[in-house]
Amino acid sequence: MQNLRTVEDLGDLQGKTVILRADLDAPVENGEVVNNYRIKRSTKTIEYLTKQGAKVVVVAHMGRPQSKDYEDELSLMPVRFELSKLLDTHIKFAHVHTSRNSIIFMEDGEVLLLENVRFNPGETSEDKEDRQELIAELVELGDYYVNDAFASYRPAASTIELAEAFGENAVIGMHYKEELERLSKLKENQEQPYVAVIGGAKLDTKIKVLKQIVTEADYVLLGGAMAYTFLQALGVSVGDSKVETAQVDTAKEIMTIAKEHKCELMLPVDHICAKKFQEDAEVIEVDTQQIPEGLIGMDIGEHTRGAYLEKLKNAKTILWNGPMGVFEWQNFSKGTESVGEYIALSAPDEAYKVAGGGDTVAAMDKLRINLRNFDHVSTGGGAMLTYLAGEDLPTLSPLQK
Ligand code: AMP
Repeated sequence: MQNLRTVEDLGDLQGKTVILRADLDAPVENGEVVNNYRIKRSTKTIEYLTKQGAKVVVVAHMGRPQSKDYEDELSLMPVRFELSKLLDTHIKFAHVHTSRNSIIFMEDGEVLLLENVRFNPGETSEDKEDRQELIAELVELGDYYVNDAFASYRPAASTIELAEAFGENAVIGMHYKEELERLSKLKENQEQPYVAVIGGAKLDTKIKVLKQIVTEADYVLLGGAMAYTFLQALGVSVGDSKVETAQVDTAKEIMTIAKEHKCELMLPVDHICAKKFQEDAEVIEVDTQQIPEGLIGMDIGEHTRGAYLEKLKNAKTILWNGPMGVFEWQNFSKGTESVGEYIALSAPDEAYKVAGGGDTVAAMDKLRINLRNFDHVSTGGGAMLTYLAGEDLPTLSPLQK
C-alpha cells in the first residue's frame, strides 16, 4: 500500500480539475436511489478534493447498458440528486461529449457528474480503438485522475487506460485505500479464532476465495444454495435443491484443503425447505441433513443456526459474505437474519467484523442489520473476493509509485 500514490500527495488543487472515477452503481427504483451506501462512501474523497479547491468531474457507471447508447433506467440522474443531498450542494450534470463547456464554467470546489460512462461504447469495448477514442476525450478534461472505484475492479477504459494516460498524475482515492486497509486486516495478523460465514447462490464465483480462506480461518460456516453442492459432494441427498453439478469436485477439493489446514468447514445439519421455489411457498422444516426428494432447501435450519452462532460467540475475527438462504422472501430469511444480527449485536465487541458483497449489503438493508456495528462493510462484491483470494486488483497497477 505504501507504493500507491494517494490524493494527499496531490497537495493544493486550487484551480485544478480532477477526474474522479467513483463507484456510484446504486439500486434505483422508480427514479430514486433506494440504497445509498455506495454513494455515501464516495463522498469522503469528493469532499476532500473540493476543500482543496479542485473542480471535481465524477466518472461512474450504472448497470450494464445493452445498447451502449442511452437507457433511461440506467441514467445516473437519480444518483446526481442523491449525491447532491449527501454533499448538500448542487451537482452539475453532463454527457462526456458535451462536458467541456460545462467544465469551463465550473467554479473551484464545484462538482460535475458525467452521465453513465458505459453509454460510451469505448468503456467496455474489446476494440482498442473504441477505448482510445473515449480515453482521448476524458484525458483532456482534467489535470489529475483519482481512482476511488474499488468495486469496479474489472479492466475498463475509465479505470485502467485512463489512469495510465494520466501517468504520475493518477492516484488512489480515500475510499479505495480504506477498503484495502480494512480488508488487509483479515489477511495479516488476524486475531483467532477467525470465523468466516460464506453463503449465496453461486459457488463458482467463490471458489478462489474459499480455497484461500480455508487456509486462513479456523471455521468456515457455509450457507445458501452453494452449501448443497458441498452436501452432494459428501453423498448427502439434497432433494431438488439448487446444486452446481459441475462444481461437485471443486467442493471436494475445498474440503480437502480445509482439512489440511485444520480449518473446520461447517455445513447445514438441518434445513428450511419448500416444495416450490416461490415466495408464498409453504415452509417445511427438515430436521435431518438429508433433504427428501421433492423438497428444495431454501434456508439453514434451527440447529444449524444454533451451531453457527455458537462458533461466532468466541470469534475474534469475523468475515461475512453471502446470505444463508433466500433472504429476499420473509419465510426464508431467518438464517441470514439471525447470523447477521448475531454478528452485529452479540458477537464479542472486540472482534474485528467485516461484511461485504452486493447481496450481503442488500440483506443487511432489508433485514435492518446495522452497518455501524461492523468495523467494515465493503462496497465491493467481486473486488472484495478477488482481494481476499490474494489476487491482484488490475486497477491498482497504474496507481503505483
Ligand atoms: P450470490 O450472488 O452468489 O451471493 O447469491 C445471492 C443469492 O443467493 C440471493 O439472491 C439469494 O436469494 C440466493 N440464495 C441463497 N440461498 C439460496 C437457496 N437455498 N436457494 C436458491 N437461492 C438461494
